[in-house]
Amino acid sequence: MMNVPLRVTMMLEHAERYFPKKYVTSRTMSGIRRFTYREIGERTRRLSSALVKLGVQKGDKVGTLAWNHHRHLEAYFGIPGAEAVLHTINIRLSPEHIAYIINHAEDKILLIDQDILPLVEVLKDHIPNVEAFVLMTDDDKLPESPLQPMYHYEELIAGGDPSYTFNDKIDENDPVGMCYTSATTGNPKGVTYTHRSTVLHSLALGLTDSGGVSESDIIMPVVPMFHVNAWGLPFAATWFGTSQVMPGPQFTPKLLAELIEMEQVTLAAGVPTIWLGLLRELDQGSYDTSSLRAILCGGSAAPRGMIKAFEQKYNIPFIHAYGMTETSPLVVLSRLKSHQMDLDQEAILDIRAMQGYVVPGVEMKVIGANGEVKWDGQEMGELALRSNWVCDEYYKDDDKSAFSDGWLYTGDVVTVDEEGTIKIVDRTKDLIKSGGEWISSVDLENALMAHEDIFEASVIAIPHPEWQERPLACVVLKPEAPGRVTKQDIQDYLRPMFAKWWIPDDVVFLSEIPKTSVGKFLKRALRDRLKDHYSV
Ligand code: ADP
Repeated sequence: MMNVPLRVTMMLEHAERYFPKKYVTSRTMSGIRRFTYREIGERTRRLSSALVKLGVQKGDKVGTLAWNHHRHLEAYFGIPGAEAVLHTINIRLSPEHIAYIINHAEDKILLIDQDILPLVEVLKDHIPNVEAFVLMTDDDKLPESPLQPMYHYEELIAGGDPSYTFNDKIDENDPVGMCYTSATTGNPKGVTYTHRSTVLHSLALGLTDSGGVSESDIIMPVVPMFHVNAWGLPFAATWFGTSQVMPGPQFTPKLLAELIEMEQVTLAAGVPTIWLGLLRELDQGSYDTSSLRAILCGGSAAPRGMIKAFEQKYNIPFIHAYGMTETSPLVVLSRLKSHQMDLDQEAILDIRAMQGYVVPGVEMKVIGANGEVKWDGQEMGELALRSNWVCDEYYKDDDKSAFSDGWLYTGDVVTVDEEGTIKIVDRTKDLIKSGGEWISSVDLENALMAHEDIFEASVIAIPHPEWQERPLACVVLKPEAPGRVTKQDIQDYLRPMFAKWWIPDDVVFLSEIPKTSVGKFLKRALRDRLKDHYSV
């Protein structure tokens, strides 16, 4: 058989050739615009050639600090098109972490959105390796800025070559992209994706029983393009000629609901906090969401109550998926098997609320105290993964502790049922160890968030003089919840569902749960704030 290098740019070539009239809808600072794949292709080729003219060479890193829009999509292909490495930078990290990763990755050029410019200007004296800045703006003129030299994206590509040809003789194992994990502890760690891993991962997104991304879809990646490549969706969607809706900067639940209705979105992807917000919006307003064939949700555990509301109240099927920056990210996804379709609604919801089983092309094992765990839905162990789109090291990092015998040890504790379906019990660092037994914060949170008066809930381990650690429930009530909900009510509500010793000893009511840069509950902040709760 032939051995043709798998190339990210061949995905764009395919869209240009076979779907030139399909389009990408892009919301930028100045409104909503549409670009066909023919136009995106031409603009991307111009970008690649302009980057080469600027001195970008094979293997150089080009960073982006940008929202989800057409220019960022062009960078997804245009940077690899110049044989450089697309380094998407999480704009919600602290300035120190952003400077750290720009320096660690050795970014040579940065592509920056106009509203993110002030953030980068602050870093000016701390990123000495950056040779040029490109502003992705709708304005005609560049603003005054201490960052120099600065180029206007549109002017830059206007001077580029629209017929620039992509090299088709590359090594498919060459790096094509980089993302850093959002570092709940220590410095962020870099993951390098290759052409090969990106193309294979895109194929997996297209499988009917995984994301099932298809030409006939209109997808809306709400998950940021600076977070694990918007789960690889922009690559796969472009390849398959799928229409894309890019929600742009600073979106709100209302804007998302409007975009779904206006653009007839069929598949939307994001983390649970996004969908909690959308749910509230749908409950309050009146929107037609009938175009949605599914919501794809991952990044942290999707609460069962939320899945139920989407599926039963709004008739929107819910696909729960699990992944990490290290895994491109799609590795595990929850789809009903054919023999499960006739189960009753509650049993189906139980399956939906689990993370699912590995997609074809990914292998897993779950290692407990005595080797591989039994598939009984009970025994807990750490999830380990192996695939052509799972990384086997961190970029320029001597810490190899997550990698052993060709497997990635995820740091996630799971159970596996007889179908091979995994349920994330906790991250190893979030498990609550009470008197030598483990309590799953995720299970308690799920139950709490199914309570009719609770909007968000996070359960954390608090040091305890007698039991080593005990669970503490942090709860945000819905604004319309009656003032009468008490600690006692919440404990009584949990009692029938859990063993006695699982019930949180106390409940604190908050106005908001702190979130990480990508919208996950920031348990570390809660733990720091409440660490003495049981010792005083
Ligand atoms: P970070 O470690 O910076 O948060 P990632 O976004 O890569 O970066 O997060 C990966 C982690 O998110 C996983 O290890 C897991 O703990 C959690 N996670 C991802 N998807 C799910 C899910 N569907 N359910 C529960 N946890 C999830």
